[in-house]
Amino acid sequence: MSSRRKFMGAAAALPMMATKGSAARMKTPDYFKDLGVRPFINAAGTYTMLTASLMSQETMDAMEYASKHFVHLTKLQDAVGARIASLLSAEAAMVTSGAAGAMLVGTASCITGKDAKAILQLPDVTGLKSEVLVQKSHRYGYDHAVRACGVKMVEIETEEEFHQKASEKTAMALFFNDNDKKGKIDAKGWVKLGKQHNVPTLNDASADALPVERLSLYNKMGFDLVTFSGGKGICAPQSTGILMGRKDLIEAARLNTSPYSDTVGRGLKVNKEEMLGLLVALENYLKRDHAAEAREWDRRVDLIAKAAKKLPTVTSKVDVPEIANHTPHLKLTWDQSKVKISALEVKKKMLEGEPSIEVTPSTTKDELVMTVWMLKPGEAEIVAKRLAEVLKAAV
Ligand SMILES: *Cc1c(COP(=O)(O)O)cnc(C)c1O
Repeated sequence: MSSRRKFMGAAAALPMMATKGSAARMKTPDYFKDLGVRPFINAAGTYTMLTASLMSQETMDAMEYASKHFVHLTKLQDAVGARIASLLSAEAAMVTSGAAGAMLVGTASCITGKDAKAILQLPDVTGLKSEVLVQKSHRYGYDHAVRACGVKMVEIETEEEFHQKASEKTAMALFFNDNDKKGKIDAKGWVKLGKQHNVPTLNDASADALPVERLSLYNKMGFDLVTFSGGKGICAPQSTGILMGRKDLIEAARLNTSPYSDTVGRGLKVNKEEMLGLLVALENYLKRDHAAEAREWDRRVDLIAKAAKKLPTVTSKVDVPEIANHTPHLKLTWDQSKVKISALEVKKKMLEGEPSIEVTPSTTKDELVMTVWMLKPGEAEIVAKRLAEVLKAAV
């Protein structure tokens, strides 16, 4: 084939690729089916393992838009960060690779500041600030992201102990927002202690984007750094997070990660599609009618509970966790000598049935737990019907 013909062929293909939504556009192959991976209806919630949340078309369009242009990545991060900061009443902000990524680069920033030598040295903290204060009741799996910077976690329980353990070695004081009630020192107290000792405080509020006011609450409270997951309630790309707070710390956090090669956070890369996707998803999230959404969740929960309660002995209750995942959790129990199936078996049957439905992993043998905020329109009706079928078959 002559190179001219090759060129003509490519040119002829162009209009088809560019005509969005036209009949000429190639039909999307059923990739998951081809791969033998079966999608499910998500009555579980925003679990990373279950791919957490779905992005809106507007977010996807923004990502597609970004994918078609080259830009200077640091300039985009500057602009997106500034926009996020102004939306959420923070001094500065950046897009990170999930909230766990935010915790890692946030910790790094507190250790190194903008010192180039210290940035190169991490995760070796010899001669640097090397300790992170945390309440014993705030230890959890995600603090691995903090420890990845080489620091030692110093556990305390009381204000008195904070005063004793804070020293020139203290890099940061970590707060796990969802455990606010479990510790002796609450969020406000933590901020106060941090300021008293000139130790930066980081609040991990990753799963706490509901109610929407919480997104700016902790900045206003005075935390030096705050993180939220992008891919949970905000429905941004699953691989994104927000780190926001003091300008000098955000600048230092950025120096500790991609695109800079020789950094502890280089593996936590974020590209333009994720940056723009997060920004657009966040803007949409802030504009949403949250009251209408809450009414719709109540309607769904009610519908599913009613269908289940047509079966003998089934009782329901609805819990809304105060901090993390502040959305209705439907909890169903029944007399298993009358409806002869355990809640875990129901979970399994729902998953293996048609269509496949995932319920919340906190389901136990005795209690079936579901959330409805990740359901698409019309799916609550499907969940209600399938659940009633599974229960009925066991009567
Ligand atoms: C989900 C979660 C994280 C991690 O968030 P990613 O965005 O998945 O990295 C960290 N901390 C808490 C409390 C979380 O719930």
